[in-house]
Amino acid sequence: MSRIKEIYDRISEASSNFLGYPLAKDFNYSEFAPFLNLCINNVGDPESPSTLSIDTKDVEREVISFFADILSSSTNDVWGYVTNGGTEGNLYGLYLARESFNNPVVYYSESTHYSVKKNLHLLNLKNIVVRSQDNGEIDYDDLESLITLHRDKPAIFFLNIGTTMTEAVDDLDKIKGIIKKYAIKDYYIHCDAAFLGCIAPFVDPKPKFDFAEGIDSISISGHKFIGGPIPCGIVLAKRKHRNRIVNSVSYVGTLDTTITGSRNGLTPLLLWAFIEKHGKEGLIARARKSQELAAYTEMKLREIGVNAWRNNEALTVVLEKPSNALCKKYQLASENDMAHIICVPGIEKCQIDAFLEDYTKELFIAERLTHN
Ligand SMILES: *Cc1c(COP(=O)(O)O)cnc(C)c1O
Repeated sequence: MSRIKEIYDRISEASSNFLGYPLAKDFNYSEFAPFLNLCINNVGDPESPSTLSIDTKDVEREVISFFADILSSSTNDVWGYVTNGGTEGNLYGLYLARESFNNPVVYYSESTHYSVKKNLHLLNLKNIVVRSQDNGEIDYDDLESLITLHRDKPAIFFLNIGTTMTEAVDDLDKIKGIIKKYAIKDYYIHCDAAFLGCIAPFVDPKPKFDFAEGIDSISISGHKFIGGPIPCGIVLAKRKHRNRIVNSVSYVGTLDTTITGSRNGLTPLLLWAFIEKHGKEGLIARARKSQELAAYTEMKLREIGVNAWRNNEALTVVLEKPSNALCKKYQLASENDMAHIICVPGIEKCQIDAFLEDYTKELFIAERLTHN
């Protein structure tokens, strides 16, 4: 077997089996194969053409406009670009926040994605970790007591709209209550909506997290709920923040507003194709279907005696960690004694049933051992 075929088969098998990662797998982008034979590069700002015109900036702007719309805004007020993933969008949001103030302090919960600590370090931003509640949501009492210690400093709130482990959503209303109570004048709100960004707009009741609620920036991963072969993401920010950092570069004839210079031109095209095909209605249907599978998974796990729970309408089912062998077989991420199954599009009910059957057998063997 050729090396390339071997790699293809390995990834293909592993990708059809995993249950524990938030990556939709129901896509087929083979019609875009001819683009693999082209140089494509979206260097610089998506709104500013470059002397190098081998880009897909026109569709990139349409993608940004779609996201601005589902996040209760429009490209009159917000600006954004297609990133390499959620991490870059979070780095960008924090960068814009840092450029807005002198000596700010970043507040974020201990359930925040591991990459954020590194981002803060790169940006040399003063930061404080806030305790989390058991469900993964930020602990508002702890946040409040920390704020009282630094009332004189501008505050950057880094909020989770869906934590990685339990899909918990920080409550913006409660945060605003704290801002008001302590009369914090200078503040910035960034939302990390890596997984939930294209689901939360359609959840009932809808969490408060978008531009209608006055947030400053938001980062979403493109390869998670939408899915695709190449990691990507979307970052959106209020225009005034982007205008603060804009720089013109004569070499490429465009504006240097993005973190990297050369940028992926293929991922905006794939995101655009998804939006063309599914639109808002398609996203809603996808979210509903995934929520139903998650509800089924939670219920069935409880039926076999496994401690399982979900945050409101979450696609993530948190459960008692099964054996290492099962975690490996189904590629379940775990933390301490909990694991999770994430019911993304592309996971079939029969795969959940197969997992339940394996877990039942394991429980049965454990039961027999304790009785002997
Ligand atoms: C996945 C994830 C990230 C990182 O996103 P990438 O697209 O992998 O860079 C950040 N925050 C949260 C909450 C995530 O789930």
